[in-house]
Amino acid sequence: MNDLWIVDNLKRIRERMNSACQSVGRKTEEVKLLLATKTVPVERIKQALDADETLIGENKVQELQQKYSLLQNDQTEWHFIGHLQTNKVKNVLKYVTCIHSVDRLKLGKALHKQLTKENRQIDILVQVNTSYEESKFGIVPEETLNLVEQLSELNTLNIKGLMTIGKLTTDGKETRKCFRLLKSIQQQIIQQNYPGVEMDILSMGMSGDLEVAIEEGATMIRVGTAIFGERIYPDSYYWNEKLSISE
Ligand SMILES: *Cc1c(COP(=O)(O)O)cnc(C)c1O
Repeated sequence: MNDLWIVDNLKRIRERMNSACQSVGRKTEEVKLLLATKTVPVERIKQALDADETLIGENKVQELQQKYSLLQNDQTEWHFIGHLQTNKVKNVLKYVTCIHSVDRLKLGKALHKQLTKENRQIDILVQVNTSYEESKFGIVPEETLNLVEQLSELNTLNIKGLMTIGKLTTDGKETRKCFRLLKSIQQQIIQQNYPGVEMDILSMGMSGDLEVAIEEGATMIRVGTAIFGERIYPDSYYWNEKLSISE
């Protein structure tokens, strides 16, 4: 049986995306919607796919693996948006076309080593900790150019842009600052002209702050709760390694 509310929620998200684009004179097609599906059962995800959504982001390798085996089809594209440990690299590469969370050279090198073995390439985004919160992963803004330059020497990694999680607060100004910072880092990287580096994707904005993100230049938003409902695990389970180990 279908929960029509998922289709309704999707419609509402598309409307929010449209009016945010309109408010700043952007075209709706400039912004992609990625379904953030952590903890969401496959039956529910399937309803979103039946409603013509095509882009899924998962946070944990094991969950990705399980869902992929049940939901995989020719239309759906899978991205990895969670913290990635180097020992999980080989597994994650079996399923995804883009990794949003590359935030250290060690991870880039681990990916490069495996991809070289498999004689292929992958799209990556560099995750930046624009809120400077200790609980968040991501490279700090000041070190991002340096990391991008180093990663650009690994020819199996197609650097496509940047990702961030905005500061989670009801103060829209604080969140906007994070997104503005990501945009300005993107501009600085473009000026450097690193060989092979593209900066077309800005992955930023979630259920609560997608309008602000779109106003500040997001080309991909990642939405979970506003489509699938509240999650049973706190986000710290996915975002903070120390907490997730002690669970
Ligand atoms: C869970 C998650 C999201 C979606 O957050 P919601 O507030 O549920 O929309 C986006 N990005 C990342 C990296 C996430 O882990």
